[in-house]
Amino acid sequence: MSLFVLDTGLRTTQAGSMTTSQAAPAQVDDDDFREILTQTRAFVRTVVLPREQEIAETNAIPDDIRAAAKDMGLFGYAIPQEWGGLGLNLMQDAELAMELGYTTLALRSMFGTNNGIAGQVLVGFGTDEQKAQWLEGIASGAVVASFALTEPGAGSNPAGLRTTAKRDGDDWVLNGDKCFITNAPLADLFVVFARTRPADADGTGIAVFLVSADTPGVEVGAKDKKMGQEGAWTADVHFTDVRVPASALVGGSEDVGYRAAMTSLARGRVHIAALSVGQAQRALDESVAHAATATQGGTPIGGFQLVQAMLADQQTGVMAGRALVRDAARAWVENTDRRIAPSAAKLFCTEMVGKVADLAVQIHGGSGYMREMVVERIYRDVRLLRLYEGTSEIQRLIIGGGLVKQAQRG
Ligand SMILES: Cc1cc2nc3c(=O)[nH]c(=O)nc-3n(C[C@H](O)[C@H](O)[C@H](O)COP(=O)(O)OP(=O)(O)OC[C@H]3O[C@@H](n4cnc5c(N)ncnc54)[C@H](O)[C@@H]3O)c2cc1C
Repeated sequence: MSLFVLDTGLRTTQAGSMTTSQAAPAQVDDDDFREILTQTRAFVRTVVLPREQEIAETNAIPDDIRAAAKDMGLFGYAIPQEWGGLGLNLMQDAELAMELGYTTLALRSMFGTNNGIAGQVLVGFGTDEQKAQWLEGIASGAVVASFALTEPGAGSNPAGLRTTAKRDGDDWVLNGDKCFITNAPLADLFVVFARTRPADADGTGIAVFLVSADTPGVEVGAKDKKMGQEGAWTADVHFTDVRVPASALVGGSEDVGYRAAMTSLARGRVHIAALSVGQAQRALDESVAHAATATQGGTPIGGFQLVQAMLADQQTGVMAGRALVRDAARAWVENTDRRIAPSAAKLFCTEMVGKVADLAVQIHGGSGYMREMVVERIYRDVRLLRLYEGTSEIQRLIIGGGLVKQAQRG
C-alpha cells in the first residue's frame, strides 16, 4: 500500500484503497487523484517555490524537500501499486507533471528517472523477479534509478551505441561509456543499454541490463556543469569489465533493449510536454504580475498594447499546449497512438515553452536578464526540454516519417 503523505504541516491522506493482490493494475480513482493533485500543488507552491533560489545557488535539492517528496510517494507515482507506487496512469501523470512543472525543474528531475525513463523499462519489460527486486525501492525512493542509453556519438541515434555486453559463462560482462546520465551521481541502479551482437536482420542487437551502482568496474564521472536546471545532476558513467549475472538481463531476453528504450522514451515525451506546460504557465504568471505592476513613465507596462500582445501569445501557447498534452495522454492510455501523439506533444510544448520563456524575459525588460529573476532561470532551464528524450528534429522525423508510413500501409 502506498501513502500519499504531505509531510509539511499540511494534511495527510491515504490515496485510495490500494490493494496489492489484484490481477489488473489498480487505478487511482478520480477523488483520490484530485487529492493527490491538490497536495502536490500545495507542496510545489508553498514548500518548494519559496526555496527555488536556494536550490539554484546551492545546486542541490535540500534534504527536507527530498524527504518530503519520498514521504508523499513522488518517487513512485507512476510505478504500479502492486510494487509500492501510486499507480497513476499517463493521463494522471501528465496532470501531476503540469503541477510539478510550476517550480524549478530540478524538483521533478530528482524522481523523474525513477518514475519515467528508468522505472518504466522495468515496469514494462522486467521479469517478475526483477520487479520484485527493484521496484519497491524505486517507488519509495530508497533506490535512485538512472537510464543509461546515450553515448558520445550515439544520442539521437541510439541504435549506434557501442557499449558491449559479452556472455561469459552464466554472466554478462559490460564495457563502454555513457554520457549526460541524469541522476548518475546519486544512482543506486543503472538501467544500461548495451550491444550483445551487431545489428542484423533479426534486430538491433541491443539488450538492457540492471546494474547496481556498486558493481566493480562502474565509475561515475564528475557532475556536468550545465547551462541550467541547477539542483539536477548529470554525469558520464563508465563500465569497465562490469560483471553481472544472467538475472540482470531485463526481460531475460537479448532482444527487448531497443524496444524498451523506445517505449519508455515515447511515454516520457508526454510527461516532458506536460512539464513544459507547467513551466510555461509559471513564466506567464510571472509576466502578468510584472506587467500589471511595473511602470514606465508612471504607466503600468501592461497598459501598452504591444506588451498585451506578448501576454496573449504566451496565454495562447499555454492553453494549446495543455489541450495537446491531455489529448496525447489520453491516446496513450487508450492505446490509440503511442508514437505520433507523444512526439507531437513534446515538439509543440517544448518549443512553446521556449517561446513563452523568451517573451517572459522580454516583458521583464532589463530585469529579466538578471540572475535573481525567476524568468531568467526558466529561460535557461527550459532549453534542455528541446534536447533530451529526443531533440525537436527527431520528433519531426518520428511524426513525418510515421505519417508517411501510415499512408503507405493504407
Ligand atoms: C541535461 C541532460 C540530461 C540528459 N539525461 C539523459 C539520461 O538520463 N539518459 C540518457 O541516456 N541520455 C540523457 N541525455 C542525453 C540526451 O538524450 C541527448 O543529448 C539527446 O538525445 C541528443 O543527443 P546528442 O547529445 O548526441 O546530440 P546529437 O544527436 O549529436 O544532435 C546534434 C544535432 O543534430 C541533430 N540531429 C541528429 N541526428 C539527426 C537526424 N537524423 N536528422 C536530423 N537532425 C539530426 C539533432 O537534432 C541536434 O540538433 C541527457 C542530456 C542532457 C543535456
